[in-house]
Amino acid sequence: MTMNEPKRIHLATLPTPLVRLERLERELGCGPVWMKRDDLTGLELSGNKVRKLEFVAADAVARGCDTLVTEGTAQSNHCRATAAVCAKLGLRSVLLLRPEPKGDPQGNHLLDLLFGADIRCYPRDHFEGDRPAIVDGVLAELSAAGRTPRWVPMGASEPIGCWGYINAMAELADQLGAANMSDCDVVLPVSSGGTYAGAVLGVLLHRLEGVRLLGVPVSDDVAYHTREIGDLCRRCIDEFQLSVDFADAAMRFVDGYVGEGYAIPYASAIEAIRLLARTEAIMLDPVYTAKAFSALLDGLKDARLGRERPVVFVHTGGVFSDFAWPAVLLTERP
Ligand SMILES: *Cc1c(COP(=O)(O)O)cnc(C)c1O
Repeated sequence: MTMNEPKRIHLATLPTPLVRLERLERELGCGPVWMKRDDLTGLELSGNKVRKLEFVAADAVARGCDTLVTEGTAQSNHCRATAAVCAKLGLRSVLLLRPEPKGDPQGNHLLDLLFGADIRCYPRDHFEGDRPAIVDGVLAELSAAGRTPRWVPMGASEPIGCWGYINAMAELADQLGAANMSDCDVVLPVSSGGTYAGAVLGVLLHRLEGVRLLGVPVSDDVAYHTREIGDLCRRCIDEFQLSVDFADAAMRFVDGYVGEGYAIPYASAIEAIRLLARTEAIMLDPVYTAKAFSALLDGLKDARLGRERPVVFVHTGGVFSDFAWPAVLLTERP
């Protein structure tokens, strides 16, 4: 255990496997490609969010909170994982969703309902314009009703949530050591930033000098992530007195894979989903991992990746949202 590590509640199935994608390598004729299967942290609790929520939930319980309140879209993996954690721990979850989902509940949203989440829906513009007032209003309403709510920021990307991937990097380092690969490129998707922030801090804290972390933004531009994730790292360092030397240069982003915007898929990302499905029987998701994996595939193609050193993709999960996008996944069949 690292010094100053906060308490966690064990919810994820760890360690997740580190596997080599040999059939993909053969298909592409490329160097070694590995995958850290963080899509296998659980079923209902699958993906990266549960690693962060283990710390957030422990904090909430320690403070006597009985309700977690958070926000996202109807296909938010974070909202689904939060609802699952709450069901498991006997807490209540309140999800602020935008925009209001239409039609039969599907994918993550279906699970939110089954996990018993209290769901409030808002038009996107209304939520974005009045966010602080809406959040304060919901927290005040819950308190007035005798609950003790804890707000969880989007993606659980808050300093304590960063511990999920600070620890995941130690776990990965052990597996890399066992496979004799201390030098490698590690590629992962970036959105609310807690995963990448934790990974960067983990690499520094555990002194993994051979690990080069490449974050692939899937929602916002590099300037935004540099500012937000830099800020999150500094807040985490302050709060937990981490003895690391952090500078913005520790963050490396691969630009150009957002497409038209968050959760708007594009052809090469959809193709990445199909490629991995038919070669490895592994499902990526259209919002996060498919975009980051298409960055990895481009890197393999022009030999920026996978030549001198193996490349490791962190599969952060998201499979349930595939079931909300059947038409998109099946159009433009090769
Ligand atoms: C949330 C999420 C991400 C992004 O992680 P952040 O910590 O928000 O940057 C990546 N992949 C999946 C499947 C996610 O649900």
